[in-house]
Amino acid sequence: MEAGEDCCVKVAVHVRPLITDEKLLGCKDCVTVVPAKPQVQIGTHSFTFDHVYGSTGSPSCAMFEECVAPLVDGLFQGYNATVLAYGQTGSGKTYTMGTGIKDGYQTGIIPQVMNVLFNKIGTSKHQTEFQLHVSFIEILKEEVRDLLDPSSMSKPDTVNGHVGKATSPGKPPIQIRETSNGVITLAGSTEVSVSTLKEMAACLEQGSLSRATGSTNMNNQSSRSHAIFTITLEQMQKINIPNDSSLNDTMNEDYLCAKLHLVDLAGSERAKRTGSDGLRFKEGVHINKGLLALGNVISALGDEKKRREGLHVPYRDSKLTRLLQDSLGGNSRTVMIACISPADINAEETLNTLKYANRAR
Ligand code: ADP
Ligand code: MG
Repeated sequence: MEAGEDCCVKVAVHVRPLITDEKLLGCKDCVTVVPAKPQVQIGTHSFTFDHVYGSTGSPSCAMFEECVAPLVDGLFQGYNATVLAYGQTGSGKTYTMGTGIKDGYQTGIIPQVMNVLFNKIGTSKHQTEFQLHVSFIEILKEEVRDLLDPSSMSKPDTVNGHVGKATSPGKPPIQIRETSNGVITLAGSTEVSVSTLKEMAACLEQGSLSRATGSTNMNNQSSRSHAIFTITLEQMQKINIPNDSSLNDTMNEDYLCAKLHLVDLAGSERAKRTGSDGLRFKEGVHINKGLLALGNVISALGDEKKRREGLHVPYRDSKLTRLLQDSLGGNSRTVMIACISPADINAEETLNTLKYANRAR
């Protein structure tokens, strides 16, 4: 089956183990992974997805092979792709994606993508020339912040120590643009050209650090922002075509360009109105806007009947969906990984996450 004819969105669930804090609170495990089936149960509810990864065995390895490796292969064939980690704060999104700075996050999806990518490039035919670019941005309150901006590294933007600003002073805001052939570009964000695994890993680390530094100064901003690590792969293939009308062979260049977005989404928990902090509530509302729009876009894409009728897909409803527009739907491949905690205190949010993920199928 051609890519694009295939169901374009795959959904997996990743159940993390109970963590120390939950054990100390005396939490019980309330999530059951049905053996040998991609099925998960909570209370009287049962959900089936494309894949379910429990907390035993080595889920990160199987998850990468089954959900992400095909997308990396597709990148070499020119297909855009998106991997999204969805779930409440603390459910394991950052751990799953590998966008954290703590130990243990190296086994995440992004470090594994980088390994496979450079392995494939290293073992490819000599006629192909590769160019890789990386960008790393964050969307907070419907504003785009550049996590690789060298000028914002040492001093996170703060006003009165707790309110985040989206851009450095004097720098124009980053804008999402669409070219006449439907390619989405980010104007004004740092695009780093990388040629080694080490250089790409340094970008991941720099951006993750920038995000984490911001969060301690801004009421844990990282739980309310979407972080998007984007790898762009360009290939110039030199093909020898024997030319009858001339004695010399002509060199013909074949060009392919595709990008992979790796997204650590904002926490999916409902915004709670905390005290008189109206500003925090506003941020929560904005983040829900991105997740809401994403849910609507993905469910529109998954609805085959509506798709054939040329249904309007509401990409323009948020910055997040606008930015991902050319990498969700169409010929691109999308995997959503719904991250959940097994703890009974999180049961309500876990159920919300499973319902959201179920809608995406
Ligand atoms: P989120 O990004 O969704 O807020 P994190 O990725 O930061 O959540 O994870 C919350 C906590 O759970 C962290 O302490 C993390 O180390 C731990 N954790 C998450 N997933 C796993 C896992 N699969 N195995 C072990 N610990 C995990
Ligand atoms: Mg996180």
